[in-house]
Amino acid sequence: MKLKTVYFVSLGCPKNRVDTDIMAAALIEKGLHLVFAPEEADVIVVNTCSFIGDAKTESIDELLEMATYRKSGRCQLLVAAGCLPQRNGDELKTAMPEIDAMLGTGTPDRIAELIDGHSIELQPGTGAHFLQQINTARLVTPGQTSVYIKIADGCSRKCAFCAIPGIRGKGESRTIENVVAEARMLAEAGAKELVLVAQDTAAYGRDLNDGTNLAGLLHQLNQVEGVQWIRVMYLYPDSVDETLLRAMRDLDKVMPYLDIPIQHVSAAMLKAMRRGHGKKQLQGSIALAKRMLPEAFLRTTVLLGFPGETESDVLELLQFMTDTQFHHLGAFRYSDEAGTPAFGRTPQVSRRDSYNRYRKVMALQKRIVKRNNQALIGKTLPVLIEDVADDGGFVFEGRHIGQAPEIDGVTYVVNANVQPGDIVLCKITDCKEYDLVAEPLEDLP
Ligand code: SF4
Repeated sequence: MKLKTVYFVSLGCPKNRVDTDIMAAALIEKGLHLVFAPEEADVIVVNTCSFIGDAKTESIDELLEMATYRKSGRCQLLVAAGCLPQRNGDELKTAMPEIDAMLGTGTPDRIAELIDGHSIELQPGTGAHFLQQINTARLVTPGQTSVYIKIADGCSRKCAFCAIPGIRGKGESRTIENVVAEARMLAEAGAKELVLVAQDTAAYGRDLNDGTNLAGLLHQLNQVEGVQWIRVMYLYPDSVDETLLRAMRDLDKVMPYLDIPIQHVSAAMLKAMRRGHGKKQLQGSIALAKRMLPEAFLRTTVLLGFPGETESDVLELLQFMTDTQFHHLGAFRYSDEAGTPAFGRTPQVSRRDSYNRYRKVMALQKRIVKRNNQALIGKTLPVLIEDVADDGGFVFEGRHIGQAPEIDGVTYVVNANVQPGDIVLCKITDCKEYDLVAEPLEDLP
């Protein structure tokens, strides 16, 4: 029977989300229609994640659930795509015969070939990634106000805990011309905010060996008509330099927002994690960022429970958090991942200790967020309106310039006569845990 409808599940990071958009566009071009419920789909695609144990479990659970529609539903083709087949394709094939086809991280644009019954070569355990070309189609949802742009993929670093280089291969960048063409297309489709993502965003352009760099890209994107906000994610600490910070400071559309994943701060942990820099350099990067962009909102990510971590390492991290006052912080617990330099390293930190350290970090961060949010009350900030938050249409959900999509909390705008996509200058009137409440002052041009 002809396959007419497709349902997507997109797991993992924003880079994976972009790959899902590319798969969706390829199947729409093939004549399939997107549906938003698995029971209505002839084809189900699960774009998986597998960088740590919990992400693998979530992907397998999702595949098992979708497999029930393969057994009893309308589904005739169940596709496992992305990082799990790329990393563990052989085991997955044996463990889940319900999966009809697998697609690695190197070929999202070729998914349509599976519809014709072809299989696409996949070498599990090798690194692969996909970079859009100027003519690569990508699904854009009408009215989507904020969109991720994957400016590079893969990573050439060797952080001891990280499986990503083994899954996505070495870092490779798109050309500025290629990224700007996509930005124009997205702005024409109504996007107001472009969120730039890669594994190692600040290393953008280095592999092109022609002087291309992130600051240069930002200058070009800042000229794209219709784009109002440009946000940069995942800046590796030792790549946060004056050239980049100057561009972020001087370009009016670039958000005063610095996402700098530090992972840890103790010298022993930074060395053991092979982060390529010590505590002094890390402190130097953060201090430089604060000096050049004093108004910037700071985000970071930390990892607890890495083999050999001591209570005093954690105390050092807690002190650094108190000194730095990150506006946003995400924390992970170490997962002993096969194929990473740290795999099987001893002494392992017990699950209980790792969990207790995670809880201490998140409890401190909650207090810091509360203090930072209370300090915003009475301040005015531009807010991008994204959705209606209540039936009456008097409360809207948005994000201020210091809130990235999906990870930093939201700002509820009350007593507003606005539309999704509007950017309005608001006065912060209250805060609730990680979220804020605001009232509009005026519409911004
Ligand atoms: S920078 Fe380090 S943590 Fe980030 S993707 Fe690369 S190897 Fe992994």
